[in-house]
Amino acid sequence: MFLIGFDVGGTKIEATLFKMSKAAPKSQPAEAFECAHPVHGRMHGEVLARLREPTERHKGYDSIAGKIASLIGSVCSAAGVAVQELNGIGLGLPGSIDPQTFRMLNGNTMVLVNQDLIGDVRRKASVPASVAMRAENDANCFALAEALCGAGLLHEKRSGIPVHAHTAVGIILGTGCGGGIVMQGRTLQGARGGGGELGHTVLHRNGHQCYCGQSGCAEQYLSGPAIESLMATRHYSQLGTAPLTARDVFEKAQASDPAAMAVVLRYKDDLARFLGGLTSVFDPHYFVLGGGISLQSAIYEGISESLAHHTFLPASKIPVYRHQLGDSAGGLGAALLSL
Ligand SMILES: [Zn+2]
Repeated sequence: MFLIGFDVGGTKIEATLFKMSKAAPKSQPAEAFECAHPVHGRMHGEVLARLREPTERHKGYDSIAGKIASLIGSVCSAAGVAVQELNGIGLGLPGSIDPQTFRMLNGNTMVLVNQDLIGDVRRKASVPASVAMRAENDANCFALAEALCGAGLLHEKRSGIPVHAHTAVGIILGTGCGGGIVMQGRTLQGARGGGGELGHTVLHRNGHQCYCGQSGCAEQYLSGPAIESLMATRHYSQLGTAPLTARDVFEKAQASDPAAMAVVLRYKDDLARFLGGLTSVFDPHYFVLGGGISLQSAIYEGISESLAHHTFLPASKIPVYRHQLGDSAGGLGAALLSL
């Protein structure tokens, strides 16, 4: 089975061609993974080809649709697979996706909003009707890939509970804060595709103003820019020099810089409060974190214990895993959606 998964972001478009099979590959591929699909069962996956293009949002919608269409052709020829041989193509997009029309309802890449991207790409790349095409929110794609092929398999091994019985919550802590919920191997889309927009649940009433119109959204406290601006308000000696990145702040905290330690402590408390609230709603088997900040080991120290202080469910020591698939999770989740 051949699938293409796209990760369409504000700066780059990445296309990956995956081969999924029941039998284990004869030779060890460079990039291989296992997958527990709710319909197709256990599969072996491998990456056959991966290509990237800059998004260049300023060039408009037709340019982006054209780039996606030509990437379908070029990733297929790079792997020696014909477009007609594909089983599915999935697009992970930076916004909420209508589950019926696959049109993007909102998001930071405004040129994509309300466009028939699936229809236009199918026409431009002459994708036959036999090839399924789907689009889904990128954080939902991340959560799905991790639940079926990454953190879900790790949790199954540790707990003995099979992947398809899990309720999993995936959170991306990066430039923004996105989320996705996977129950019994499927993403929670909701009535209009907005299921899992966890970054815009209110964490602090009357808190920082958010671009979405609310104030106190989780994203305003848990994203990389949130760490950077909190540090900027505390670290007066840095005035006049280049501002610190979120990674700098974690490094300084590691080196016992008191201002950075206070920022990291505050961040961990907000993360625990956020995950605790989500525990009361979903009672997940585990959380899985992605995005740049998920690479910081400091955020995992004591997190399961401290989130338990912020939830209604007593003695909930829920595992919080770091992503297992790296940056490729978004594209893989998009590809799996088309199955
Ligand atoms: Zn918001």
